[in-house]
Amino acid sequence: MGIEFKKIRSQVRLMNPLKGHALDEIPFEIRFDPLTGATGRVFDLPFKAEKPDVADIVDRSTKIFCPFCPAALEKSTPEFPKDLIPEGRIKVGHATLIPNLAPFEKHAGVAIFSPEHFLPVEDLAPQTMRDAFSACLLYLGRVAQYDPLIRFFSINWNYMPCAGSSMVHAHLQPNAGEVATNALREQIEGGRRYEHANRRNFWQDFVQAEKQNNERSLGTIGSSFWAMSFVPAGFLPDVQCVFPERLSLMELGKDDLEFFLDGLSRTLKSFLAENIYSFNVSLFSTKEEKGHRVNARICPRLLPRPIGNSDIAYPQMMHKESFTVRPPETVRKEVLESFAA
Ligand SMILES: [Zn+2]
Repeated sequence: MGIEFKKIRSQVRLMNPLKGHALDEIPFEIRFDPLTGATGRVFDLPFKAEKPDVADIVDRSTKIFCPFCPAALEKSTPEFPKDLIPEGRIKVGHATLIPNLAPFEKHAGVAIFSPEHFLPVEDLAPQTMRDAFSACLLYLGRVAQYDPLIRFFSINWNYMPCAGSSMVHAHLQPNAGEVATNALREQIEGGRRYEHANRRNFWQDFVQAEKQNNERSLGTIGSSFWAMSFVPAGFLPDVQCVFPERLSLMELGKDDLEFFLDGLSRTLKSFLAENIYSFNVSLFSTKEEKGHRVNARICPRLLPRPIGNSDIAYPQMMHKESFTVRPPETVRKEVLESFAA
């Protein structure tokens, strides 16, 4: 049994007031993730995000203390212990990497992109993001050398408050720990199951399968492969990146990072074209799990209606089930415009 993109088609029957109370059917799909088996519900609804008032969010953020702005950074943010990072804080170009005062892991950093308080999504080109991502890779490399117990790495990004960020000032959150998060553990276990059953690597077969079926693929950029996720994580479809030949973030070279930033900036451009100003990014990695490969997801975040409701509700929070209002295969056409440009 190779890669399987399993879906069950279903529909809701109702007397629809939008169609003169006539009998109507709303189709949807229950999809099964080819790696983990986790399910998600995919609808095809006429949803269009409205442009958020970004200026208002930025304006409100300037009225609250920002420890990442140059006037406060030295005084108000922590430093690493000297035995871990002798220089206290890691500086790469415009970026500064400090310990996370609200740590999520044994080793948790915050990579502040630049002195600019607000970095508009329009400006998130590879050269604007390079320093912060390079600083994260440098930090995780130092941590791996320092702490032999570390087995898992991630680089994470909440961009803007609607994606969960408590700061408008753009920053990444690199983490390293001894226990995998649920998502990473499910990837590892799925990879082992696949390898046991097929005697092949899941990620390499997955890339081949997505290229072949050509329903969600966005293309190859150097060592990275890009596609719409078959089972989206969020309210709108997300974009997935796989490095089929890179086992760990520790192996990610300068070129690999450039390939990633190229795909990331193209993805964000496509989000912007759909009025999406907020997103989450996670890069997942183990230290040495044989069947695993470096991969990432870039997920749009939004407040779906003018009342400002969250795009995460009981399905994701309580049932661990994703709910997506547009099929990835349809959204792909829009994202491809950025990837082909
Ligand atoms: Zn700031």
